Amino acid sequence: MKIHEYQAKQILAKYGVPVPRGSVAYSVDEATQVADDLATEVCVVKAQIHAGGRGKGGGVKVSKGMDAVSENAEAILGMQLVTHQTVPQGQKVKQLLVEEGIDIRKELYCSVLVDRGRQCVVLLASTEGGMDIEEVAEKTPEKILKVFVDPAVGLRSYQANELAFGLKIDAINPKLIRPAAAVFMALYETFMQEDCSLLEINPLVLTGDGRVIALDAKLAFDDNAMYRHKDNLALRDTDEEDPLEVEASEADLNYIKLDGSIGCMVNGAGLAMGTMDMIKLAGGEPANFLDVGGAANQENVEKAFRIITMDPNVKCILDQYIWWNCSMRHGCRRCNCCFQKC
Ligand code: GDP
Ligand code: MN
Repeated sequence: MKIHEYQAKQILAKYGVPVPRGSVAYSVDEATQVADDLATEVCVVKAQIHAGGRGKGGGVKVSKGMDAVSENAEAILGMQLVTHQTVPQGQKVKQLLVEEGIDIRKELYCSVLVDRGRQCVVLLASTEGGMDIEEVAEKTPEKILKVFVDPAVGLRSYQANELAFGLKIDAINPKLIRPAAAVFMALYETFMQEDCSLLEINPLVLTGDGRVIALDAKLAFDDNAMYRHKDNLALRDTDEEDPLEVEASEADLNYIKLDGSIGCMVNGAGLAMGTMDMIKLAGGEPANFLDVGGAANQENVEKAFRIITMDPNVKCILDQYIWWNCSMRHGCRRCNCCFQKC
């Protein structure tokens, strides 16, 4: 589950990560009110959508003075913001974050995620902040530093220091090594405590007045751990999600919309993947991934058919089931006997 930048920053602040002062606004009036309260010469007006690359798409505007704040808020609120991460027609902007402007000396990149291959958490960092990190990874992979965290001991302070020195922060301002290392420790702590699947700060900035600040923040929670974080559930913004996916999640269906024309109605994630591969191999394009679950009943299946057929691109449906009639009456994937019977 993804959340907005302003929500991520509120969480990060609780863990001691410095973030710019600011507040969310739902109208031009509210935006100017926030700017007024900030009492600063320069403000930044930022579109709040669940996609990155907003700056390039015109969704982030540095604004000098009240007139600029209201002009930019007016322009951004309600726009269809197109970025490389949105659908082609863009995402409608319904909320803004108005923040104090920050005097940037150096933009860095930092993220925390799970390395599935190594089965551990990894911190990634780069001196190439503010850029498209996928491009950095492709063209200059040596510019991405990695620190793997042993799950038994957690992130050690020497590793955080190593990252700070690796980013050559001492060459910019030696006083910032400690606060930068503290930010890395706090990011790791946030990631673990809040059960995140991704925490990305791009850019993490070193400021002219000697501070380390998370200027942008992207946070996604691990859906499988949401039951442990009931308050975080309230941060969900279903306007940012595909309406069919929202409906499917309410019915406990694992549904991801895709661009093809062949609907897939399958139980079991492995079989669903296999079905999609099969369609591709035969030259078709799947319209969705759908796992109705190992213990699906008539009601789930009916709901799933309704969701698949609501997609106007669907021309036909490929239907595949494995029935989990295991002798242990598990009706689930807990034992192997189901597979043998099938
Ligand atoms: P994204 O494009 O969706 O990743 O949005 P970001 O929050 O990363 O903003 C994009 C860019 O806007 C940043 O990389 C900065 O260069 C610039 N920016 C954002 N906030 C400030 C600020 O307070 N001061 C200055 N000078 N630039 C800013
Ligand atoms: Mn960014």
